[in-house]
Amino acid sequence: MVIVFKPGAPEEVKTKIKVNLEQQGFQINEINGLNMTIFGIIGDTSTLDINLLRVNDCVDKVMRVQEPFKRANRMFHPEDSVIDVCGVPIGGRKIQVIAGPCSVESAEQVTQVAKSVKLGGASMLRGGAFKPRTSPYSFQGLKELGLDYLKAAKEETGLPIVTEIMSADKIERFVEDVDLIQVGARNMQNYELLKELGKTRKPILLKRGLSATIEEWIMSAEYILAGGNENVILCERGIRTFETYTRNTLDLSAIPAVKKLSHLPVVVDPSHAAGMWWMVEPLAKAAVAVGADGLLIEVHNDPEHALCDGAQSLKPERFARLMGELKGIAQIVGRDL
Ligand code: PEP
Ligand code: MN
Repeated sequence: MVIVFKPGAPEEVKTKIKVNLEQQGFQINEINGLNMTIFGIIGDTSTLDINLLRVNDCVDKVMRVQEPFKRANRMFHPEDSVIDVCGVPIGGRKIQVIAGPCSVESAEQVTQVAKSVKLGGASMLRGGAFKPRTSPYSFQGLKELGLDYLKAAKEETGLPIVTEIMSADKIERFVEDVDLIQVGARNMQNYELLKELGKTRKPILLKRGLSATIEEWIMSAEYILAGGNENVILCERGIRTFETYTRNTLDLSAIPAVKKLSHLPVVVDPSHAAGMWWMVEPLAKAAVAVGADGLLIEVHNDPEHALCDGAQSLKPERFARLMGELKGIAQIVGRDL
């Protein structure tokens, strides 16, 4: 971090700031120009409140030279993190595909879809039991019963299960029955929930918030990591832009950006980005091409009658075909699928 003082800043003010920072364990590299002083602060400044330094009237600017996240930072962890989800590694050479319906609707539905996505080559099953819906009158999910049905589908197929948590009071049940706990876009900045998940050691799939910057998203991951849970997987699912043709705008540039900044694996959800089933295929291919470690794809056996997100759900046959096509792209970028 760098502090630039205003010309003529009194010596005693600068000394006070210097002593205060040194007492916090930082080393100060002082540069004195003709009428300007600059402090280079050496040490882990991720815990320093930049705004508190800006409050001082003698301070012109304060700039970070390092990102505010530490545990998620590739600088301190150069090798890629590989997260083990019930025996399925995410972040390694193999691109893992998570597939299933938006919502668990019945035991038969989720088991049927689980079987077909497994045949198609998926390595994990998704399905929402607790649904964050825009309208309170829309289907809210089968809740605990939905978790029971997911468990049954796992027993039948062996596929680990991925499902969304909406509140901290359900953590115990999720830790018991879920293999990869999803934090949805709407809860990306629910810091109390993130802190509680940080106390567990369960793998967490952290979706990017609707309008979150890459830094805000990684800072949310930092909350979980700071609690001691290192098993965080990021998920790009499209962001809100001025464009209304698509449900969201898939930010493909976020994948190489996150890979540069962080060691955490990144999964791409083309379904919630597009909002339309026919766009899922080209976006999934693009995601693999830009370095995604996995995909999250909505698949439904009867999209016309789906209780949630039917328009963006692939039918099992299309999903299987897409998986075949993705293999070729994975190969070109030096990955397996
Ligand atoms: C979902 O995965 O079903 C979902 C609700 O996703 P998001 O939080 O990205 O909207
Ligand atoms: Mn959905």
